[in-house]
Amino acid sequence: MDRSLFIDGFWRAASDGSTREIRSPHDGSLVVVVSEATATDSSAAIDAARRSFDSGEFASWSWRRRSDLVARIADLLERDAVEIARKESGDTGKRLVEAEYDLADVISVFRYYAKLGVAVDDRIVQTGDDRIRSRITHEPVGVCALIGPWNYPLLQASWKVAPALMAGCSFILKPSELTPSTAIHLMHIIQEAGAPTGVANLILGAGTIAGAPLTQDSRVDLVSFTGGLMTGRRIMAAAAETVKKVALELGGKNPNIIFADADIDAAIDNAVTAVFLHSGQVCSAGTRLLVERSIHDRVVSEIVRRAKAIRMGGPDDLLAETGPLISRAHLEKVERYVDSAIAEGATLLTGGKRSGEKSHSAGWYFEPTVLDGCNTRMSCVQDESFGPVLTIEVFDTEEEAISLGNDTIYGLAGAVWSADTEKTERVARALRHGTIWINDFGPYRAQAEWGGFKSSGIRRELGPSGLDEYLEIKHIWTNTSPAHSGWFSDEEQGEDS
Ligand code: NAD
Repeated sequence: MDRSLFIDGFWRAASDGSTREIRSPHDGSLVVVVSEATATDSSAAIDAARRSFDSGEFASWSWRRRSDLVARIADLLERDAVEIARKESGDTGKRLVEAEYDLADVISVFRYYAKLGVAVDDRIVQTGDDRIRSRITHEPVGVCALIGPWNYPLLQASWKVAPALMAGCSFILKPSELTPSTAIHLMHIIQEAGAPTGVANLILGAGTIAGAPLTQDSRVDLVSFTGGLMTGRRIMAAAAETVKKVALELGGKNPNIIFADADIDAAIDNAVTAVFLHSGQVCSAGTRLLVERSIHDRVVSEIVRRAKAIRMGGPDDLLAETGPLISRAHLEKVERYVDSAIAEGATLLTGGKRSGEKSHSAGWYFEPTVLDGCNTRMSCVQDESFGPVLTIEVFDTEEEAISLGNDTIYGLAGAVWSADTEKTERVARALRHGTIWINDFGPYRAQAEWGGFKSSGIRRELGPSGLDEYLEIKHIWTNTSPAHSGWFSDEEQGEDS
């Protein structure tokens, strides 16, 4: 029987014996069979995390000791890098080389938090009174539910697991039901690295069955969620019942703004990567191209030429530049999205359909797609397709570019291309998105906060703020010379008075 749930230090099967087959998005072949948790399993995982946290053992470890644990996890991830990257590309269908890049990022996240955590100190508060010692301390927030998406499974998990461990929390990790393999491997590594029993727990399975209890249970203190907007809304509502802390990393409709005075060749090349990398299954993908009218024809014709030449293929195709979509359901969603864009008046310049290549017939391949003549009233400009679909809008002035760039409920990321540094600075400041790239698109670092304005999320991952998510702040006030408060009279009152 498959035993891939990790609860209270043991590898277990689902309580009702259910399993799930994971199939390759590239060719439909069977990748792995894993346990499919029930709500009872989720409750057992919460129970284990709660008991481990309430025992106080892990929270009482010194920062140095927890830092050593997190650094050891980074070492073990490095040791197993080849095997883990292969598992990630097996589940997601992404090219092996991309999975290897992702894994290097995962390791850097664990290394970053291992170093950062050591620096968290108490803060002394100056009260102006010599008798008082007042200090601000940081304590682990408690039991955390860590719920992740399928596009960067281990990377998104690392943004949560590394700071949660560093802070001294206990957690239940629930990766996407579509991509469980690397989370299983990570749990083996955390166990090997020496985390106390019950600190790290793993639940696999459907969001509504295995995930939802984690967001409703009063024994959970914090939910950190990365995924779609609709799920984020549901999770926030569920968490409100027990006033859990909530951190949300949701979707994006990210404007990529090219002014006529930009380095046009570099801007075009980056615009292609921004939207077609990982077939657009990237929260910060540059899906909205805003281009100054005078350079529209040149930019668009070159992007279309480049899009037509993109080579798609599976994990081991060394010539491939991007891969399949995650599932049939997702491919059908992207198809519907393109159809509705055309119905709303967008002009299809290339793509817009499943790949006709024979070697792609058993997988979920969708052609790189470019839609021109778009505007912000169209749902294709407002809604996330999460596929390889670029919409193009034109602008005439800086003010118009800013206004278009902000005309979205999302606020995750955006870019501005221009040789005028004062202009790029003005536009970067005016755009209401959590990350702005100037004359670049896509890079991020573990040291720099990541997250969204508006409906793209709440709070931040990565950087020092990413550790703060997992810390409670406590003020401890000590009076070294106890005295009466003097507020109420301590004299006995006579009966007549
Ligand atoms: P999703 O919302 O469908 O699922 C995400 C996770 O939530 C999965 O583990 C799923 O099982 C779980 N889930 C679903 N319903 C739940 C419920 N009611 N209660 C608890 N858990 C539940 O998202 P997805 O399709 O896996 O991922 C794609 C989305 O993630 C895109 O919108 C993308 O923009 C977003 N994303 C955002 C970031 C970011 O940093 N902002 C990063 C990666 C992905």
